[in-house]
Amino acid sequence: MKIRVLGSAAGGGFPQWNCGCANCREGRRPGGRAHPRTQESVAVSSDDKSWFLINASPEIRAQLEDNELAARAPRHTPIAGILLTNGDLDHCLGLLSLRESQPLVIWATDAVRALCSRLTAALAGEGMSMSFGWAVCPRDGDSALLLYRAADERLYAQKLIRSRLTAAKVVSMPSRAERLAMRSQLG
Ligand SMILES: [Zn+2]
Repeated sequence: MKIRVLGSAAGGGFPQWNCGCANCREGRRPGGRAHPRTQESVAVSSDDKSWFLINASPEIRAQLEDNELAARAPRHTPIAGILLTNGDLDHCLGLLSLRESQPLVIWATDAVRALCSRLTAALAGEGMSMSFGWAVCPRDGDSALLLYRAADERLYAQKLIRSRLTAAKVVSMPSRAERLAMRSQLG
């Protein structure tokens, strides 16, 4: 079995964007003794061809480049599934970067699944639909094929819903005077 550590820093990464402590400053210094690290994520493979991600960090796009995890053909990914260990944002936000019409198979507890479903529903309510379909084991099946099929069907269903949506309305921005009037009304 092969294990790749894609990132090993805590949430926020290292150096952290809003920290100028001695460690973070050393991490930013070219040739410094502290090395910058991306947020924690691990990839596991038993055959070097398909990989399982343990958590999807916000830095997932960069973490999947430049190694065995990169795509080898159009609409291809060696990622066979993603295991979410919990609902932390730094473990789940990467899912939003893995969209682009891709069925994703996610392994998670029902609580994490419910949390991610609420997130996608809330975004859809704001007119931001996710361009990926996802399946969760064991709810959608217990074999790789069944799970992939479920994710693919969900992706297709979302595309159907999107194609029936009416075009967004363009609203004009309030003028400066109108904004000031609104602000004074709000107190
Ligand atoms: Zn720091």
